[in-house]
Amino acid sequence: MKKAYLLDMDGVIYRENHLVPGAKALVDVFIREGIPFLFLTNNSVPTPEDLLIKLKHLGIGNLSARHFYTSAMNTADFLAEVHPGCTAFIIGEAGLSSALKEAGIANDTISPTYVVVGEGTPSLERLNKAHELIERGARLVATNPDNWCPVAQGKTRPGAGATASYLEASTGQRAYYLGKPNGYMFSRATKLLKSRYRSPELETIMIGDTMDTDIRGAVETGLQSYLVLTGSTSIDELPGYVFQPTRVMESVADLLAELETGVPSNRLDSPAYQQDTSGEATTRDGDRHQTDRQKFQRRKPAMTR
Ligand SMILES: [Mg+2]
Repeated sequence: MKKAYLLDMDGVIYRENHLVPGAKALVDVFIREGIPFLFLTNNSVPTPEDLLIKLKHLGIGNLSARHFYTSAMNTADFLAEVHPGCTAFIIGEAGLSSALKEAGIANDTISPTYVVVGEGTPSLERLNKAHELIERGARLVATNPDNWCPVAQGKTRPGAGATASYLEASTGQRAYYLGKPNGYMFSRATKLLKSRYRSPELETIMIGDTMDTDIRGAVETGLQSYLVLTGSTSIDELPGYVFQPTRVMESVADLLAELETGVPSNRLDSPAYQQDTSGEATTRDGDRHQTDRQKFQRRKPAMTR
């Protein structure tokens, strides 16, 4: 069966403003060999065109906007499918507003079907308005469950999950989270590749660096998953997870070697893995994603004598 690849971006093909070694050559092989692939990102700020420019500046210049699928696009696809004709009050940036517009979902500040929360820095005024609209019946949807996102070594910014969580607290309504790890992100991306490459049968493999989003979503959708160790996960964290990736690779360079030689790669000496990851922006207290809440918040039983 023909193989297809879904690839996370941050921590997989680049870190901060540097390409992971092998990433460019891998994309070259995908394009040269006509291998179906798509970049998946939970970041709902950029449009596919913005991402295209970003990768071009990083050194991958042979892509097109259709190689990217964002959580904002996934949210737009979802709303258009489950509720044709719906309207939205948006808290987010260009990537979200353009995706909703493309899907034919109108802006509505009076009586929207949904309040849609994406990444960004909303004003308190806008949050108050969203609160009011939810109180009046609008349903709360978020592009992704990330509470915070790494921006640089040791530095983070608040994510869409944190904003949605604010509105959950103020309204008592639970948000519905699109993006990874929601299976809808993976199923829509797979569907997109199947129709684009006219292949009803594709063996789809997700390549990611984050267990709770990339790997979890792939496992739950029935896809294969390859974890790379160039991002937020180190190999000693794996035993702590209920679900596991199909394979672990040091970096995408291992996949490149495999595609070129046809021999499955199992290297554990990749230069990408030798980097010092102390002071890592992704290691800190607090749940990274809204879906991380796996523990019951249970009151201690009253003491009996
Ligand atoms: Mg990542």
